[in-house]
Parts: sequence; C-alpha cells; structure tokens
Amino acid sequence: MSTSKIIKAPYIQAQAASIFIAAGSTPQEADTVASNLVMANLSGHDSHGVGMLPRYIDAILEGGLKPNTAVKVTLDGGALIALDGQQGFGQVVGEQTMALGIERAKSLGSCILALGRAHHLGRIGHFAEMAVAQGLVSIHFVNVLSRPVVAPWGGGDGRFGTNPCCIGVPIKGQPPFLLDFATSRVAQGKMRVAHNEGRQVPPGYLIDPQGHPTTDPGVVVVPQKSGEGAGLFGALLPFGEHKGSGLAVACELLGGALTGGGTWHQPASTTRSVFNGMLSILIDPARLGTQNAFEHEAMAFVDWVRQSPDAAGTEHMQLAGDPERAARKLREREGFELDEATWQEIVAAGRKVGVSL
Ligand code: NAD
Repeated sequence: MSTSKIIKAPYIQAQAASIFIAAGSTPQEADTVASNLVMANLSGHDSHGVGMLPRYIDAILEGGLKPNTAVKVTLDGGALIALDGQQGFGQVVGEQTMALGIERAKSLGSCILALGRAHHLGRIGHFAEMAVAQGLVSIHFVNVLSRPVVAPWGGGDGRFGTNPCCIGVPIKGQPPFLLDFATSRVAQGKMRVAHNEGRQVPPGYLIDPQGHPTTDPGVVVVPQKSGEGAGLFGALLPFGEHKGSGLAVACELLGGALTGGGTWHQPASTTRSVFNGMLSILIDPARLGTQNAFEHEAMAFVDWVRQSPDAAGTEHMQLAGDPERAARKLREREGFELDEATWQEIVAAGRKVGVSL
C-alpha cells in the first residue's frame, strides 16, 4: 500500500499550471487545463484529475498533444457545426466548442456539435455544466482513441475505450441533474489510481490478457510481464452487461465515426496521447415551447424521486450530480488525497520540462 498526502486545490493547481507553462502553454491555457484537472479532483473523480498531468506532458513531448491550439470550425451550418480539435488540449478546444454551441442553441433553439481530434477532454460533465448553467439541456456521446481498454460484452479482449456518455438537465430552483459516466464498469483512470495505491478492485471489473476475471487493476495499467499474455494488457468490462456495451458502441459510432474524428480498429499503440471525439446536442427548453411544462414536470419528478425511502444498507438516495457537489464542498474545505506514486509521477513530469517541485 503506498502512502498519500492531503493536497489543497490552490497549491496543486499552481504547480500544475507552472508545469504546463514550462511545456509550452500560455499562462491562460495552463490555467484552464490545471483548473479543469483540479476541479475533477474536487468533484471526487481523481481518475481525471492532476494524475493525468504526466500523461499530458509525455503527449506534448511526443508531439501528439499540441499546446496553444484552437478549435477549427470545418462546417458551419447554423445549428449543425463540425469542428476539428487539431490535437489541442481538450480542456481548451472543448470549452471553445461549447461556447459556440451555447450561443447557437440560445439563438436557434438547438445546436448539434461534432468535435473530432480533441486531445483528452477530461471530465465530460464540465461541458454539460457550462450549458446547464445557461439553462440548456446538454447531451454528449464521446469516444476515446488511445488503447482499446474495454471488452465488448461477451468478448475476451479490449476493442474500444471507456467511451463516456453525459446528460445534463437544468432543474428550476434545484441543482441540475448531471449524469456523467464511463461506459466501462469503472473509469480506466480509477484503475490507475487503485494500481498506484496498491489496491485490488472488486470482482466484475476486469479480465486478464487471457480473458479470465481478475481483481488486479495492473492488468489495464501496465503490460503483463510474464507467462501467457506477456506484453499484453487485460481489459475493463462494460457496465450493465450488453446494455452498457451497446451504449459504448453507440458512443464510438456517434463520437468517433459521425464526428469524423475516427473510431478505434487497430492494435494497441504505445503513444501517450489520447484523443476524444464528442457529439454534443444542446437544446434550449425556452425555445421548444414546453418551458413551463418542462420546469414544472422536471421539478415535480425530481421531488418525487427524492422522496424514495433509503434502501436497507444504503447511506441515502442521491440523484446524478449530487455526489460531485458533495465532494466539492468537502474537498474545497479539507483538500484531497494524492497518493505518493501519483505525486512522484507529477514531480517526474515537472522535471522533464525543467520544473522542480
Ligand atoms: P462514476 O462511476 O462515479 O459515475 C458518475 C456518475 O454517476 C455521475 O453522474 C454521478 O453523479 C453519478 N452517481 C455516482 N454515484 C451515484 C449514486 N450513489 N446515486 C446516484 N448517482 C450517482 O464515474 P465514472 O464512470 O468513473 O466516470 C468518471 C469521469 O470520467 C466522468 O466525469 C467521465 O466524463 C470521465 N471520463 C472521461 C473519459 C475521456 O476520455 N475523456 C473517458 C471515460 C470517463
């Protein structure tokens, strides 16, 4: 079991930004990326937090991730926009994409955005939060081009990524519904965190390179060293059996094929960059003519669901978005844990670009 330290958000955000600046980002870009990663930690998703920094630095040094790159509109059809992320930071090109889509949805009532070739977009909920804050419904299908780390239901090896799906719905007078999840049983980054912490994971998450169930998160983090399957990775399983697997394939078809960003159909690559394609659908309820009914019905339904009594053995019933809001409150106040292995990886990444922490 490795040790961990408690980190305060402003401290790690400043350190991360200094590393991104040394790697070539403008101070503004460095701040956008660092604050996005720290917000993932604060939201309870350490898988998409500052632990991603070493991978981003490697990706810059390899040339796959291009700092200071803006999104390029390749087709502007009004409420239908295609965009090329041009291998820029997903945190940056993703925000630029959403800003354009929000403006269009507000003026036209809806907007479909097809973004390809963005470097890792991080926590997809961030983009839904941008739209929901403007009163819009925000739906996202995302594919991941990096390593086929998730097995299709019934399959014995990885064929696609953790392909996240996200739905944000504003609820009048209440915090928004914000469903944001990987279609794998768990996010790949959570296996990295568990591996770094020396933890086993519950059964049902993983298979080894031979397709056998395992609880060792290392099978999807490091190539297996010996025996049958040496040099290969195992795979994550999809959530919800054939249903999650089907949703993952839909994310690949919509986020990868339809956006033009590309799908995964090749053996694993060893490069450190990871690309996302994202199909986003924004709807302005105020322009749909159902605003009053929507506000009333959404509020009434959410209240109704929240009145469900706690099931035996559970802490309390929550709606999507609640856990992240609760984590933010706690972690902003008390800081969050960063395991020693992850911290050392960040220190080493800093060293690669001449920053000593
Ligand atoms: P998760 O399994 O914690 O699920 C998160 C979702 O479930 C959230 O909407 C949360 O509010 C809701 N939730 C959690 N516990 C709940 C409960 N008890 N009751 C009701 N709702 C609950 O998260 P995950 O699948 O590990 O995904 C984590 C993050 O990883 C997401 O932000 C996702 O966008 C991101 N991700 C990104 C990529 C990428 O390539 N960019 C790939 C995969 C995942």
